[in-house]
Amino acid sequence: MGWFERTYNRIKKGKKKIDVPDGLWTKCVNCSEIIYNKTLDDNLRVCPKCGYHFYIGARRRIEITLDKDSFVEYNSKIYSHNPLDFPGYEEKLKKGEQTTGLDEAVVIGEGKLGGKSVAIGVTDFGFMGGSMGSVVGERLTIIIERAIEKKLPLIIISGSGGGARMQEGVLSLMQMVKTSSAIAELKSKGGLYISVLTNPTMGGAMASFASRGDIIIAEPGALLGFAGPRVIMQTIKQQMPKNFQKAESLLEHGMVDLVVERPNIRPTLIKILNFLL
Ligand SMILES: [Zn+2]
Repeated sequence: MGWFERTYNRIKKGKKKIDVPDGLWTKCVNCSEIIYNKTLDDNLRVCPKCGYHFYIGARRRIEITLDKDSFVEYNSKIYSHNPLDFPGYEEKLKKGEQTTGLDEAVVIGEGKLGGKSVAIGVTDFGFMGGSMGSVVGERLTIIIERAIEKKLPLIIISGSGGGARMQEGVLSLMQMVKTSSAIAELKSKGGLYISVLTNPTMGGAMASFASRGDIIIAEPGALLGFAGPRVIMQTIKQQMPKNFQKAESLLEHGMVDLVVERPNIRPTLIKILNFLL
């Protein structure tokens, strides 16, 4: 059956929906606007109608944050093992690779921001929810230590659905202590750490490196916390207020210093670096 017959039959049956090839349009999860993907990308993946901030991959994030072509990546050759023989872990890692084009849920390196050298780490929610296994913890610790060594300001941009990676059990939980200790060391040496939180930053990430910034910036509407709102509601059997665990609410309660829209994050970081360094 040709396209004409298919379309004719569909219209005859009252189904007026015309097929759209995959990957051309995205429906905004907040306002339902249908957005042309190129428009969405040009707008740094922020909905042009309602301002909803869509997920953005680590490499693109680095591209829109740092000065053009200034990024030098570190330690891309550390890979996860499956220490507990957790069923399906290797497949999940493979899937993460295919989805993001990354070999793990974090990218680290050095680059320039407004002409100033910075150490940067960016976690990628698209790779196993941005969860922190031993490789993510190790890479983040490496970049924190590099910031200490070279006296560079440290910027970590986080997005992590569940925090610690359950497939690595206690080795994963250990990364919370490891990254937090490295940040404590950075602070004791007078280093600067700016943490940028994106939707969502939860669990072990938020309970360790992500919430330890000297300055904490969040993207609008980002869900930020330890246990998710549904878990809390089921546990304490109470309704949570509107905006609970949202960036704006955390700003009001002093957990976040600034809520900044994605296009303004780079200029804001440059302003902070120029002011403090
Ligand atoms: Zn929208």
